[in-house]
Amino acid sequence: MTIDLYSDTQTRPTPGMREAMARAVVGDEQSDSDPTTRALCDRVAALLGQEDGVFMPSGTMCNLVSILVQTRAGDEIVVDDQSHIYNTEAAGSAAIGGVSVKALPTPAGLYTPEAFAAAIRPPARTAPRTALVSIEQTTSFSGGSVWALADMRAIRDIARAHGLKAHIDGARLLNAVAATGIAAKDYAQGFDSVWLDLSKGLGCPVGAVLCGSRDFVVEAWRWKYRLGGAMRQSGVIAAAGLYALDHHVAQLSTDNAHIRLIHDAIADAPGLSFDPSAGQSNILCFGVSGLGVTAPAFAEACLAHDVRIRAIGSQIRVTTHLDVDRAGAERAAEVIRATAEAFAERRAAPVR
Ligand SMILES: *Cc1c(COP(=O)(O)O)cnc(C)c1O
Repeated sequence: MTIDLYSDTQTRPTPGMREAMARAVVGDEQSDSDPTTRALCDRVAALLGQEDGVFMPSGTMCNLVSILVQTRAGDEIVVDDQSHIYNTEAAGSAAIGGVSVKALPTPAGLYTPEAFAAAIRPPARTAPRTALVSIEQTTSFSGGSVWALADMRAIRDIARAHGLKAHIDGARLLNAVAATGIAAKDYAQGFDSVWLDLSKGLGCPVGAVLCGSRDFVVEAWRWKYRLGGAMRQSGVIAAAGLYALDHHVAQLSTDNAHIRLIHDAIADAPGLSFDPSAGQSNILCFGVSGLGVTAPAFAEACLAHDVRIRAIGSQIRVTTHLDVDRAGAERAAEVIRATAEAFAERRAAPVR
């Protein structure tokens, strides 16, 4: 069977989760009378220390709605250049919100408070108004880096001092919590909007919960409805979220440990290059250009040995999750190592 490290979105609902979904008490989400969805929103809002929450079909919609609520057309937002908002949301903020995006250059997805401060435009009649800053905790495409709490707070405070909104893309916020032991609500404290994805390491088939102040959630609901994101008997899928919060949070520590295991097993393999900070959570990125092969060619060679990894640009990304056990992580590390060695040997062999 293929060991699938392409993404933590590859998780399938477990039998226990499916049972919880089947048993869910449901109502009409659109009128806020689905009790299971309400319970999930309350639970996540409490976890994040926010006043209220709203259930969303996807994390992408959480980001988009947060931007739409907290900016107006012609504004600019600040993100990192590896971010999901900048790279893989089909420019929703521009297409729907009329918002331009300033993407700060970041080798590992983290920018400094100073770089953020320098990116805020001084008010001028001719300039876009800088309106919102987003932090991805943990980073996705740049390798699961974990933001330091002090940097997040410094950025939040700079934002506040300049009248900007501060947003956390918390798709994998709970992986950061698992890595550092810092509570989710400590990370989220004082931010204007923050969300969790249920369909990544938490293992749900669908869904995310977006949180903020009561006023923010009122406006977020308006956009959710407008975008066609309001649901009906959503308790069936919200039940999966409640189940995941009860049963799958501890798994995130295991996922992080599996990435550490893979990192340590391949760190000295020939031709692979790692950022010094690599392997902090459940994602590991590395370069393969030292082997003279492209990332897609490297990924394909691993797939031939039933290990599926992902090429993102010139990097390889490996992601652990609840459908990969320790033996799977060990096997994946072996295959990646052997693949690197095979390419290195081929490269060293004299051409005849
Ligand atoms: C997956 C992801 C999203 C989008 O979430 P979906 O539920 O897939 O729409 C946004 N940001 C980050 C960092 C992600 O990893």
